[in-house]
Amino acid sequence: MKGVAVLGSTGSIGRQTLDVAQSFPGEFRILGLAARSSLRLISEQVRKFRPLLVSCQGSPEEIAGLLELGCRPCSMEEMVCHPSVDLVMMAIVGEAGLMPTLAALQAGKRVALANKEAVVMAGELIATYLQSDNPAILPVDSEPSAIWQCLRGEDREVARLIITASGGPFRQRPLKELAQVTPQEALRHPTWNMGPKITIDSATLMNKAFEVIEAHWLFGVPWDKIEVVVHPQSIIHSMVEFVDGSVKAQMSLPDMRLPIQYALFYPKRMKNGSLPRFDPISSGSLSFESLDPDRYPCFQLALDIAMRGGTWPAALSAADEAAVELFLSKRIGFLEIPLVIQQAIKGHQPVMNPSGSDILNAAAWAREQVNAVVGR
Ligand code: MG
Repeated sequence: MKGVAVLGSTGSIGRQTLDVAQSFPGEFRILGLAARSSLRLISEQVRKFRPLLVSCQGSPEEIAGLLELGCRPCSMEEMVCHPSVDLVMMAIVGEAGLMPTLAALQAGKRVALANKEAVVMAGELIATYLQSDNPAILPVDSEPSAIWQCLRGEDREVARLIITASGGPFRQRPLKELAQVTPQEALRHPTWNMGPKITIDSATLMNKAFEVIEAHWLFGVPWDKIEVVVHPQSIIHSMVEFVDGSVKAQMSLPDMRLPIQYALFYPKRMKNGSLPRFDPISSGSLSFESLDPDRYPCFQLALDIAMRGGTWPAALSAADEAAVELFLSKRIGFLEIPLVIQQAIKGHQPVMNPSGSDILNAAAWAREQVNAVVGR
């Protein structure tokens, strides 16, 4: 049995990971569960999966309740390094996923990576673990997973990557109305059901810029060979064009359990009767549109900043995380998200070839700048 630690077990990807694991009895032993909040849900998960280790926040009585179930509290870094853990599902949102990801890679573990901020912030560092045929990182995000699947069995004669974007909930909203949209509207994603941070990033298309950054580092493809196209149906999850002009696309109905399962079993494909199947006739037509830069200013802003390298992308990611929190708490409007990010980090003094602590320092600085700009 494969020993698995699930970090972020109470979030959308974490819950779906446990769902996939349950579909295959005898394949996985859940050794560790970690979550920042939702103590009630993690208690239920502990009761069901009986992990050795647990990492969560709660009162002493609540933690004592978990201990009675036979698991030991520990830090996430300790959990990912446990000798019986073969694979870490990194499903924590945001910067909190960075250090446990680096710790797991340093300990030689395979990391199924759903957290994209870790790659955005520390792409250069993480890329140093990617040089073997035995991949240390198994992408879980649907677009990098699609690229990964398209590249399988190919020599790396890639002409370009074409990453698809649904366009989010405001793809057809008149531009003049965007200033007024509420967090509730932004949280209503048309095709994917995800946590709040990534859903807001999907509405601004910051999420898509992060996926371009992810693809650049995970697949070693130059920035100018990565394109984004809007594909509202979210059936084609991304495409790879090879040097001869042939294009491979990976298609499936939008259900994260498929890329999760692909990463958990890689290199095997497994039959799972609970996953929905694509049918070309009933699915209707697939359409594509170019990305409108006026509608999604975060997209180009993020790429311009990320391409500067060093600690710039870490500052970008942290500023975005802080700006999204401010939007969700109605402190700033939707169109202020890119303005606040740009204003906050324009004076960043980057560190080139950064260490983990350089990256965390840049992130802390960027968060402070966002709060200063918004006047807290
Ligand atoms: Mg995605």
